[in-house]
Amino acid sequence: MSHTLPETAPPSPAGRRSIPVRAAAPGETRSTCPYCGVGCGVLIEHDGARITGVRGDPAHPANFGRLCTKGATLHLTAGHDTRLLHPEYRARRGQARARIGWEAAIDVAARRFAEVIAEHGPDAVAFYISGQLLTEDYYVFNKAMKGLIGSNNVDTNSRLCMSSAVAAYKATLGADAPPCCYEDFDHADTILIAGANPAWAHPVAFRRIEQARARRPGMKIVVVDPRRTDTAAMADLHLAILPGTDVWLFDAMLHVLLDEGLADEAWIAAHTEGFEALRAHVRGVSPAVAAAVCGVAAEDIVTAARWWGEAPAALSLWCQGLNQSTHGTHNGAALIALSLATGKIGRPGCGPFSLTGQPNAMGGREVGGLANLLPAHRDLANPAHREEVARLWGVDSVPAAPGLTAVELFRAAREGRVKALWIACTNPAQSMPEQALVHEALAACEFVVLQEAFAGTETAAFADLVLPAATWGEKEGTVTNSERRISRVHAAVPAPGEARADWRIVCDFARALAPRIGKPQAAAMFAYDSAEAVFAEHVASTAGRDLDITGLDYCVLEREGPQQWPFAAGARVEEAGARARLYADARFATPNGRARFVVPSRTLTAEATGVRYPLALTSGRLRDQWHGMSRSGKVARLYGHADEARIELHPRELARRGLADGELVRVSSRHGALVLRVAASDALRPGMAFVGMHWGRRVLNSAGINLLFGGACDPLSKQPELKHAAVRIEPVELPNRMLLVRAERCGRSAAEEAALLSPWLERFAYASLALAGRDTPAVVMRVAHERPIPDAWLAELDALLGLDGDGVLSYADPARGISKRALIEDDRLVGLRLTGETAAAGWLSEAVVERRDAVALRPWLLAPLATPPAGGGGRGRVVCNCLNVSESDIAAAIAEGAGVRDFDALQARLRCGTSCGSCVPEIRRMLAEGR
Ligand code: SF4
Repeated sequence: MSHTLPETAPPSPAGRRSIPVRAAAPGETRSTCPYCGVGCGVLIEHDGARITGVRGDPAHPANFGRLCTKGATLHLTAGHDTRLLHPEYRARRGQARARIGWEAAIDVAARRFAEVIAEHGPDAVAFYISGQLLTEDYYVFNKAMKGLIGSNNVDTNSRLCMSSAVAAYKATLGADAPPCCYEDFDHADTILIAGANPAWAHPVAFRRIEQARARRPGMKIVVVDPRRTDTAAMADLHLAILPGTDVWLFDAMLHVLLDEGLADEAWIAAHTEGFEALRAHVRGVSPAVAAAVCGVAAEDIVTAARWWGEAPAALSLWCQGLNQSTHGTHNGAALIALSLATGKIGRPGCGPFSLTGQPNAMGGREVGGLANLLPAHRDLANPAHREEVARLWGVDSVPAAPGLTAVELFRAAREGRVKALWIACTNPAQSMPEQALVHEALAACEFVVLQEAFAGTETAAFADLVLPAATWGEKEGTVTNSERRISRVHAAVPAPGEARADWRIVCDFARALAPRIGKPQAAAMFAYDSAEAVFAEHVASTAGRDLDITGLDYCVLEREGPQQWPFAAGARVEEAGARARLYADARFATPNGRARFVVPSRTLTAEATGVRYPLALTSGRLRDQWHGMSRSGKVARLYGHADEARIELHPRELARRGLADGELVRVSSRHGALVLRVAASDALRPGMAFVGMHWGRRVLNSAGINLLFGGACDPLSKQPELKHAAVRIEPVELPNRMLLVRAERCGRSAAEEAALLSPWLERFAYASLALAGRDTPAVVMRVAHERPIPDAWLAELDALLGLDGDGVLSYADPARGISKRALIEDDRLVGLRLTGETAAAGWLSEAVVERRDAVALRPWLLAPLATPPAGGGGRGRVVCNCLNVSESDIAAAIAEGAGVRDFDALQARLRCGTSCGSCVPEIRRMLAEGR
């Protein structure tokens, strides 16, 4: 029996087919960037079979043609070199997975899920999905678990990202509805950015803020962040609070607003409830009291409050810095209280605006794809909502008991309560906190399915069944960005191999499962013939809800472009301005229409620093990488800004420990330990540390950064505290060093080369992998080990990288543990291994990446020269990725003095920052420091 749909779907039952009225130019397909929640429109350039380029869509209202470094290099991720191309299965653990056909794969998935359900009940299975899925994918996953299987065990990596914002919006405004839009940047007189670094994490939104301030220089920007990020560096006021003290700060700001008559008492009385309790709560939190807790000056708190209170329009932005906390919901609620207490919501330039981390965390929330939600913002806890959804789906009931949230789910799997787990488009073996437990859970789970586009993610090692999924450029559907704007996602080229659209895989599975669990008639619930048909059902589910989009379908989105919700039947595109922001009438989505003030708890972080773990570690996004790097990690030039995991500490902390910038250290928390390179940074105060969140087992010889973080969660949102861990740092003795560099060669991409080297990482006490270069990428592996690296390992590595054949220069001094090889092809240096003596590692690795002329270099290739023979040093980090301008280029220009001392002159000279603009804040900072 075949459970699969035909490759080419016939017209949907509704008879609606997409009409590409806003058609792109020939060879271009309109779509949306798959990275962050800004949701930029892209034009994919292709030849019908391969994606060849990408540019920003000038017609998309999120970005008007702009892209950041990640979006602008999307086409470089579209190769098939690291893709999953065929279903694979292993019947027993310990076996290698073998290729199977789709029909067999779907049957085995259905059979094994049905066996677990029959023996242990529906709550013994779970889906763990992703904010990077499209709305249509999310919808069918949710329906399959809650409508077919009869459990609410479907949760998502959005739990790690946005669930505190969801809970805060619902607690205060009554609905999970960000009330603002990007246009508000143009109208705000004060912007308060708390726990967010949009300069790096939401770059195109940040460009819009920069532009707005350039047009209106009187605008004030206040940034609340323990680090002096590039966002903080451009602020008028940076409040570098201690981790976990956000609520104290916001309470003190409210205290000042009340004290100085800057609250809008009439508006509070007319449109809110619960304020007297909050008024009493903040009475004792004077700026002086909060200053002592937060570690900032009391007068700065007063200034921030005045700028907020006196501004005709004030806007707050927040992201993971508030959300990823054991009191993330209260962080958000305390920030929202500032908008409500001053009546600054529902009008241009005003409101609390949560920046979404992932491209479609919003869409996932809209279809109820979390363990405690139901479609169209319905609540699982509400019996009437459960009945409505059961009616919509044509099932008897939807289970009442909340499902397992992300952290709970993996704990349940480790305890044997979840026995079959389906993971889609996410990589929990890297991205979850308490990594040791997650790895045990995945090993303990009887049946793990991984539905994924990219090969070799950390989670793949645990999967019994791998299902290849289509990805960006190959899929049809929709996403919703941070400002509630729904955009179409289009397929430009066919998916490679046997990869299929996610929604379709789920429907095939659900139709195969239905008869096996005694619900044969339920198979019809998944008889969609297209993503458009799924979207139509989602649309119907929103009728009468706060996010009513009954006026939308694919045709409208094609013809009119991306639209914000709500967009009820009869709504007119011309009236989009009236929908741009919510609550203009000050009627909120609560039963009595009043917004609610919440009295927040003033707990601090779950883990206190102390004698054993004296440093407060925080984590965050790097400018040019995305999440676990399965996509962005394929692009060599995206390593130009950061090519290795580094833990940043204040120079005084390094000095106190007798450490130097660039040394390797052991970082330990209560949850795990790993070796990292240390970097001096005065962006942090002493006592703190920072590390980028992206680095996992594929590029490091450990489970990655998240093994340092515990699973303590906000009790309301169940979001884990990924922003804080208490750690200690100690020197490590790893005297045996090695550097391997190999330029890309014919028939094997640098990303494939890295995938082959990746399993080697765990053999060493420290090892890291990166790509390097631009048009001709290379792979770079750095190693440090406590004992000499065995000759047999070196021989294997030489063979793997082709450093063992013709054209290889070699040198060995076994007595001193030195062994070196340099590979020359066509008079170009294309490969290198330095072992035991790595003084020349910096400039020689650049020489390989640039394939420099080996004839001139030949006498020096195997010499221990710290600098190249002609003198000078390496170029260092690439600051401007688009124009390939490095830190040293900029420093040299600044050092030249007259003529390049201001930003415009520097840009005129080097052109840095003139394309995507992601590097502009850093260049401005370098200029300021240079001055
Ligand atoms: Fe993509 Fe960058 Fe736009 Fe985010 S800001 S959607 S990563 S192009």
